[in-house]
Amino acid sequence: MSARILDGQALAGRLQQELAPQVAAFTAAQGRPPGLAIVLVGSHPASEVYVGHKLKAGRAIGFRVDLERLPETSSLADVLSLVERLNRSSVHDGILVQAPLPKGLGADAAAHVFDAVAIEKDVDGFAPASVGLMVQGRPAFVACTPAGVMELLARESIPIAGRRAVVIGRSDIVGKPVALLLLQRDATVTICHSKTPDLAGVCREADILVAAVGRPGLVTKDFVKPGATVIDVGINTVTDEALASRLYPEGHKRLVRFRERGSMLVGDVHPEVADVAGALTPVPGGIGPLTITMLMMNTLKAARARTGS
Ligand code: NDP
Repeated sequence: MSARILDGQALAGRLQQELAPQVAAFTAAQGRPPGLAIVLVGSHPASEVYVGHKLKAGRAIGFRVDLERLPETSSLADVLSLVERLNRSSVHDGILVQAPLPKGLGADAAAHVFDAVAIEKDVDGFAPASVGLMVQGRPAFVACTPAGVMELLARESIPIAGRRAVVIGRSDIVGKPVALLLLQRDATVTICHSKTPDLAGVCREADILVAAVGRPGLVTKDFVKPGATVIDVGINTVTDEALASRLYPEGHKRLVRFRERGSMLVGDVHPEVADVAGALTPVPGGIGPLTITMLMMNTLKAARARTGS
């Protein structure tokens, strides 16, 4: 069997096409586009890339997207004061603080900063109040990656109610919210983590398996029930030749390209899983593009709620 590939890139394109006329209608009615402010503290290389994608995608759909930069040496007070200013801004409907924050801001900095974002502008869904509302199944901003997973499952008509779902990973930004959202759709959900015994055995019970770990190729064939849907949230940069060769056979085009470039992006799911799974998201081109699209959908939702439109 060869798994059906769940093309997140193509779905993101379709969703953005659906979004563009709604953004244009908002702009015409309100005399301004829906606005998103992205706060970037320092210049973490991966964050620069992610922020660049968000700016480009948002502006292409018609949003106002402003990048608010602060230097690496900023204090926590500097970041909080910027967030407060954006909370009061009339042209910004959503605020995203790009993680990770510089280590110099202290271990609790992210929690303080997410706490400070006004709930009606929390389009990333990380503020504790947004999380609490989501847990209770009340209308709230759902974190963008978990929302992207759910949108993909819905648009690809993957049944959830009554199914067994296993989520590997229990982070606040991916694992826990994905598990809760699946539970709200009436799946029977198991959450696994680094202390779970017999991880492969637990995963083999899943009709829907979500990997959000950050370990390249962790999920191998023996983790997957034949025909299961496998959602690979992991995004890992591989630079180790031996690891790349364990993921792709000699002569595979991705291995050839790896040798030319010296690195490649892979998920948590080993490519061999395509022989067993019924449906599978690729990396890149799976959940990643949907994350940005969900951010834009949340921003439009925030803009409509703030303007009562
Ligand atoms: P975290 O590091 O916060 O969490 C990883 C989770 O995986 C933890 O719960 C950890 O368990 C668990 N874990 C680690 N090793 C193992 C193991 N060997 N077996 C079982 N469980 C294990 O990561 P995030 O949730 O932030 O991100 C997960 C992945 O998703 C990353 O690759 C990240 O890059 C990617 N990502 C992708 C996004 C996208 O847009 N597609 C957006 C956000 C993240 P424990 O709690 O016990 O430590």
